[in-house]
Amino acid sequence: QTLKQTLLDAIRTIPDYPKPGIQFRDITTLLGNPKAFRRSVDELVHPYAGTNIDQIAGIEARGFILGGAIAHQLSAGFVPIRKKGKLPYDTVRVAYSLEYGVDEMEMHKDAVSSGEKVILVDDLIATGGTAEGAVKLLRQMGAEIVAACFVIDLPDLGGRKKLEDLGVTVRTLVEFE
Ligand code: 5GP
Repeated sequence: QTLKQTLLDAIRTIPDYPKPGIQFRDITTLLGNPKAFRRSVDELVHPYAGTNIDQIAGIEARGFILGGAIAHQLSAGFVPIRKKGKLPYDTVRVAYSLEYGVDEMEMHKDAVSSGEKVILVDDLIATGGTAEGAVKLLRQMGAEIVAACFVIDLPDLGGRKKLEDLGVTVRTLVEFE
C-alpha cells in the first residue's frame, strides 16, 4: 500500500461538521494510528533531515501535535502560534482571515530570532488564511521560512497557491476535493 493510501485510509471524514455542508477531515484517527502518525511525520521532515532548522512553528492546536514530533526529529526548537490571549509573555499579533470574518493570532516576541530558519506546521491548509497570518508573524520577527508543511491540502480552496505567491515553499501529503 502506498503512503498516500495509508494516510487517506487513516483520516476520518465527518459530514456536516462544524456546519451543514462542511466535510470535516478529522486527523485524530491518523494521530491514533501508530504507523500513519509516524509515516506522516517522517515524510514531512525527510527533505530537511541533516539540514540546519532552528525552530518549528506550530499553529494551534493540531499543528502543536505534528510540530512537536517534527521538532524532536529535526532536533529543532518548537514555537507555538496561538489564538489571541493565550500566551503569557509579550507577544506580536496579527489579524488573519477566516471563512467568515477575522481573528487574531500571536507569538511570543522573543520566540524567534532574526535570521533563524523556521518550518511552519499545521494539519491542513484550506484557504490559506491561517497559514498566511503565521507567515506574516514569522517574517515580522525576521525568520527565514524554509517551508510550510501540512498533512492535508484542500487544493480547491487555493491555500497552497496563496502561500506560494508569498514565496513560501509548501509541502503537503494528501489532497481532498
Ligand atoms: P484556512 O485558514 O487554510 O482556510 O483553514 C485552515 C485551518 O483551519 C487550519 O488551522 C486547520 O486546522 C483548520 N481546518 C479547516 N478545515 C479543516 C478540516 O476539515 N479538518 C481539519 N482537521 N482542520 C481544518
